[in-house]
Amino acid sequence: MSSETPAGRPIRVLQLYPRDMNIYGDFGNALVLKRRLQWYGYDPVMLTYDPGDEFPDDVDLVVGGGGQDSGQDRIQADLLSIADRLHALAAEDVPMLMICGLYQLFGHYFQTREGHRIEGIGVLDVTTHGTDRRLIGNVVSHSEEFGQIIGYENHSGQTWLGSEAQPLAQVLTGEGNNDEDAFEGARHRNVIGSYLHGSLLPKNPAIADFLIGTAVQQKYGESLRAFNAPADSALPMPELTEKARTSAAAR
Ligand code: GLN
Repeated sequence: MSSETPAGRPIRVLQLYPRDMNIYGDFGNALVLKRRLQWYGYDPVMLTYDPGDEFPDDVDLVVGGGGQDSGQDRIQADLLSIADRLHALAAEDVPMLMICGLYQLFGHYFQTREGHRIEGIGVLDVTTHGTDRRLIGNVVSHSEEFGQIIGYENHSGQTWLGSEAQPLAQVLTGEGNNDEDAFEGARHRNVIGSYLHGSLLPKNPAIADFLIGTAVQQKYGESLRAFNAPADSALPMPELTEKARTSAAAR
């Protein structure tokens, strides 16, 4: 930790299931949160939770990554056992970022293409069905709140939003939630789900600062002070594809 960081202003960041749910560099999201918290003058306390661990008290921010179907299977029972804690945190507006495999399991369920159902916890009103077509590649998307959001997707599950979930972004290049509509990710209160690996936060610091800023506001009642915040969230809105326009009109 840098010597300028004042002690005694902790923000507690919990990473869910790093052993089983942590692919395509998703751990980078935790590293970005840690570093930016330090830059902003806070004292990051990085916590991890794996199956069987004691769920920590006083969690200010939660992050979780993607994984293979087998990893999702391994954590399923444990995730269901901490569902009440995660629902309570979401209801308290604690910021959370869940990528791909955990995005799916923060929804109601992920039914694999073999028909095996992995139950989720329903913090997000989304459902996911595996298909034979894997959606793989780079994604460019746009959100009114965060500007351009970029990343890399690789999933067999295709996700559909229920009425309680807002899309995180509109896809301009790539597929996002599914190969029919042009939505990427989901948002409910301060919980964000997204298919984008990459890692997401190093490429999209506006989302990192949303998560940090929300945690800091809730814990200390103050706004983030600028250090040398990049102006990278202000990219202009690119031309929408036909798929993106039709999906937006249908919502
Ligand atoms: N196993 C899930 C799927 O294939 C999630 C994949 C991932 O996290 N990248 O849809």
